[in-house]
Amino acid sequence: MARSDLVRILQQAVPGTVRISRRRVEDVRPLREDADLLLGADGVHSLVRRSGWPGSAARNHGLTVLRGTADIDPPEVAETWGGGWLVGITPLAGSGRDDAGPAGTNWFACLPEHRTPSVAEDLAHLRALVGGRRAPIDELLGAVRAETTLVHGIHSAPPVHPVRQNVALLGDAAHAMAPNLGHGANTALEDADALAASLRDRSGIPAALRAYARRRAAVDQAWRLGSALMMRMAMMRSGAGARDRALRGIASLGPR
Ligand SMILES: Cc1cc2nc3c(=O)[nH]c(=O)nc-3n(C[C@H](O)[C@H](O)[C@H](O)COP(=O)(O)OP(=O)(O)OC[C@H]3O[C@@H](n4cnc5c(N)ncnc54)[C@H](O)[C@@H]3O)c2cc1C
Repeated sequence: MARSDLVRILQQAVPGTVRISRRRVEDVRPLREDADLLLGADGVHSLVRRSGWPGSAARNHGLTVLRGTADIDPPEVAETWGGGWLVGITPLAGSGRDDAGPAGTNWFACLPEHRTPSVAEDLAHLRALVGGRRAPIDELLGAVRAETTLVHGIHSAPPVHPVRQNVALLGDAAHAMAPNLGHGANTALEDADALAASLRDRSGIPAALRAYARRRAAVDQAWRLGSALMMRMAMMRSGAGARDRALRGIASLGPR
């Protein structure tokens, strides 16, 4: 699903009784003063988390991600792991649903930190690093354009308990994880569902927040750890040959 569609669906579900104010929050203390509950759903660099959980700044993994869309049919649907890099290719959400829909490819690549002032130069570096190894990747690299490419780093949150007094953390604010299991947004939605259910079921906010933490803290941290392990395995440099042999061995045990 395209993220823009998901955000639109969620925004349409917000009841009219909710008061919405769009501004950047610089200080969370005034928000807490009159509130029964302050919910920090403010992402990986959460101000709510950094304000209430000292020493909880996000960690930079020293990697660069390039991702975007390309106007071609996906040359394959796969994730390729090299020695210290990966490239993923998937169909663009919505493309190919009917004959009228445009074809399209969603792609992402991860490599050791390398940033330049221009996306075109970042793409040139990517082509030099991963080009000439697999035909589908070369086809993709021929179609990617700077205007439809995002370049950023990877950050994750340190382990924190998601509740402190009347403040709760949700989504990336609570457990920003490496993207390698594709589960960050999923866990954010599951958190929201669990918090809503806890507030409905319990008498009083402290009991509801304890129930929320019991439901989500361990499972969210498990996804965070699993994602970090998957990132390390996918981005291995020196051990990549042994990793590939081990995975080939495991694959040979299963059905073709
Ligand atoms: C490369 C990459 C690939 C990914 N792939 C997947 C995937 O395939 N599947 C998946 O499930 N997840 C994926 N994720 C993870 C997913 O993007 C996040 O987990 C998800 O967006 C977290 O949602 P959130 O609402 O908690 O935080 P965010 O989406 O970061 O939203 C936080 C919001 O808070 C606002 N905000 C922050 N600070 C303030 C402030 N001070 N004042 C006011 N507003 C503020 C921000 O503007 C933003 O709107 C990926 C992430 C990356 C980096």
